[in-house]
Amino acid sequence: MASRLSDSLHFVMIPLMAQGHMIPMFDIARILGERGIASTIYTTPLNASRFRGTMSRARELRYPIRLVEVPFRSKEVGLPDGCENLDTLPSPDLLQKFHSAVEKMQEPVEDHIRLHDPPPSCIISDRALFWTAETARKFRVPRFLFNGMSCFSRLAMHNVEQHYHSSLGYYLNLPHKEPFEVLGMPQSFKIRKSQLPATFGPLPNLEDVRAKVHEAEKSSQGLIINSFDELEQGCVGLYEKAINQKIWCIGPVSLCNKNERDRLDRGNQAPEEVKRSMEWLDAMKPKTVIYACLGSLCRLVPDQLVELGKGLEASNRPFIWVMKTGGNERTLELEKWLRDERFEERIQGRGFLIRGWAPQLEILSHRSIGAFLMHCGWNSTLEGMCSGIPMITWPQFAEQFVNEAMVVDVLRIGVRVGVDMAVKFGEEAKVGVLVKEGQVLRAIEEVMSSGEEGEERRKRAIEYSEKGRKAVEDGGSSRSNLSQLIQYVMQELKRQEDIDDV
Ligand code: UDP
Repeated sequence: MASRLSDSLHFVMIPLMAQGHMIPMFDIARILGERGIASTIYTTPLNASRFRGTMSRARELRYPIRLVEVPFRSKEVGLPDGCENLDTLPSPDLLQKFHSAVEKMQEPVEDHIRLHDPPPSCIISDRALFWTAETARKFRVPRFLFNGMSCFSRLAMHNVEQHYHSSLGYYLNLPHKEPFEVLGMPQSFKIRKSQLPATFGPLPNLEDVRAKVHEAEKSSQGLIINSFDELEQGCVGLYEKAINQKIWCIGPVSLCNKNERDRLDRGNQAPEEVKRSMEWLDAMKPKTVIYACLGSLCRLVPDQLVELGKGLEASNRPFIWVMKTGGNERTLELEKWLRDERFEERIQGRGFLIRGWAPQLEILSHRSIGAFLMHCGWNSTLEGMCSGIPMITWPQFAEQFVNEAMVVDVLRIGVRVGVDMAVKFGEEAKVGVLVKEGQVLRAIEEVMSSGEEGEERRKRAIEYSEKGRKAVEDGGSSRSNLSQLIQYVMQELKRQEDIDDV
């Protein structure tokens, strides 16, 4: 337990504006709030509006969480209006401008910290926000980094860089086509060069940001990870050693959303008709429904999504299919296909389409869900695992192929849909269709099979969900790691006070 000193603690939290980064930060604020620790989250107006439901729930629960809006200077950097989150960015060419506008948040954030009580005790910053290193220095507080990935995937990427990075630059010394073994892991697994994150190659216009992020990383006091020790297969200690920094695993953070009200508006408000999908789920038999959602940043081409829709339909099983909307060419084309094919009429009663934001956590916690077809974003991976259901893995980019290997090869709670290469932001059309209807169908059949292998997979999924739950309960590893983090912050504050007294 944290001592009474913790009553005066104040955590400043600055997330990167992407749903997979913001949502777990809000969960961390709630977990701190449960312990009576105050936090202030800084974000821009559009992002703040998405978390209205979360904030009103926090107020009801009397959690001391403050959400502060700072302007996003999109016009100044030449970004279109409304591009305040990575999910609204139309093209990768705008990434540099997005980062410039994010950098301009430093001044209003620091002004607010300076002018408002209580003073910060520490900063939890997204790894990408390199300028928070300076903010922490100015206010003389420790700074911890959060970037939403597991230790397993971070260690894997670190090891690939160590063992295979060529001195010639970003050209990796790797076999071109065949999968290669990632060395230095407690449990070995294979991956292909084509599945590595784009960060393994040159990042046009973003080299400067990358260098600053690397530099700022060095001054952080450690990493906060949304995971738990028992899941990480020994990677926490190995990664701590590799980067010579402290790591606190305090997850799965999504488990702080204990009831329906917490889960329904988590991350954004789900439309009313979507909330009706919950009634539809009530009518389904236990563990029969496939829930398919490919994350908040899915930009797959319409032809690819059509294959997914056809595969879901062909499975003859009940399903929920989440598709992102936005009035762009991609979504209009998919809508046209749905209309022309009378898709929704054909699947009536058996399938449910969600356009826009799905209350994912609430859906996953429903007893009728039998499997989760997901893109291996780390939050979705953990959320699926905590629900105790097996998964179908359809990774697209970033570290998602490593998460897939963890789910399928190491934890053995998932089945691959079979994607061989990453889809880079902006190159979706070039890549086209990577997964056919038949592959979707085969993966669904395999994951839902009542054979011995399927039963064993389901059993393991339940075991991991129980381990996750235990980690955040009294006496659990994540709960005690959070207490240690709080202690660490208090010691640092005391140390700073002693220095000031001299
Ligand atoms: N999410 C959601 N509804 C959606 C899409 C996503 O609630 O319609 C949530 C999901 O539960 C997860 C986060 O958004 O918490 C997505 O993070 P993840 O790391 O899985 O993937 P990303 O979107 O960053 O690729």
